[in-house]
Amino acid sequence: MRALVKYGNKDGEVRIADVPMPEIGPDDILLQTKAVGICGWDIEMWRHKMANPVTVPVIQGHEFCGVIDKVGANITDWKVGDRVVSETGAEICGSCPQCLTGNYQLCSKRKGFGYGVDGAFTDYVKVRRGCLHHLPDNVDFDYGCLTEPACVAYQALVVLSDVRPGTPVLIIGPGPVGLFALQIAKACSAGPVMVAGVDKDAPRFEVAKQLGADRIINVMKQDPKEVVMEMTKGLGCPLVVDAAGNSKALELAVFAVARQGQITKIGWGPKPVDFSLDPLLSKAARIQGTFSHNWPTWEAVIAMISQESLKMEPMISHRITIDQWEETFKAIEESEGVKAVMQFNR
Ligand SMILES: [Zn+2]
Ligand SMILES: [Zn+2]
Repeated sequence: MRALVKYGNKDGEVRIADVPMPEIGPDDILLQTKAVGICGWDIEMWRHKMANPVTVPVIQGHEFCGVIDKVGANITDWKVGDRVVSETGAEICGSCPQCLTGNYQLCSKRKGFGYGVDGAFTDYVKVRRGCLHHLPDNVDFDYGCLTEPACVAYQALVVLSDVRPGTPVLIIGPGPVGLFALQIAKACSAGPVMVAGVDKDAPRFEVAKQLGADRIINVMKQDPKEVVMEMTKGLGCPLVVDAAGNSKALELAVFAVARQGQITKIGWGPKPVDFSLDPLLSKAARIQGTFSHNWPTWEAVIAMISQESLKMEPMISHRITIDQWEETFKAIEESEGVKAVMQFNR
């Protein structure tokens, strides 16, 4: 079968290769892939600019759903033909404090699909049973594969932040996760919800408006500090979500956060920050990290998609086949559109 493989440790060393069909053990499940989201991580892996190490060669792709094709001898609770979506933790240890308390996404031995273990940019993928969730019949595969980035936003806002109805939220970075954060903040009746970005985010600003953003802030055209203070009666935001990750974004977050407020940092920024964090002290504000997601978050997000309280269609700008990967990676790198979905077995 054909697969999109990162085969080397240099910029651009990704190609379509012929790979063998995965063999499953007694506790595994073989999934026939239907849809796979293209993530910022996939672009970073292609450019070889990842924050985390990657073993090569590896089949990329970690946001996927499909239909069960085969089950191992020990599997009794899943059957061939089930529509399913998979979590991203291909391997966990099962015995560390995080695994034992259900926070297995923080397992130090965790290996994710698409970088630690072969992923889903191909026709079939092997998964362990603990990764799977049923995909309701009314959820299209193209929507189902975007459960993962929506879970990142849900975990950050609902599980790890104080998001309250009627209180302002600033979201910095209108990428897919930022736009899901916007949708979740709106679903929680927070407001006004402001979305900040730069010139090249123009297409994403349009989507943010469609999804109900109360104010768009292009930081290259307006002073975001002035806008935030105007929108919050000079008080700042009880919750700021940094979905961009760079030093400038965090600096704005530190300014915009209200006294006793919270900054939740979703975006990665491997470079050191170049400003003082002292305003956090005088405001008694805090920074919350967030990483990945676990079972209850997945079930909640799947329910939100099924109930249409998350809007999925505006999130999809490209539907492609594997042969169009390179032009699409380039388009996503240039922020043209929001999310691309690679379709298989259609
Ligand atoms: Zn992702
Ligand atoms: Zn563990």
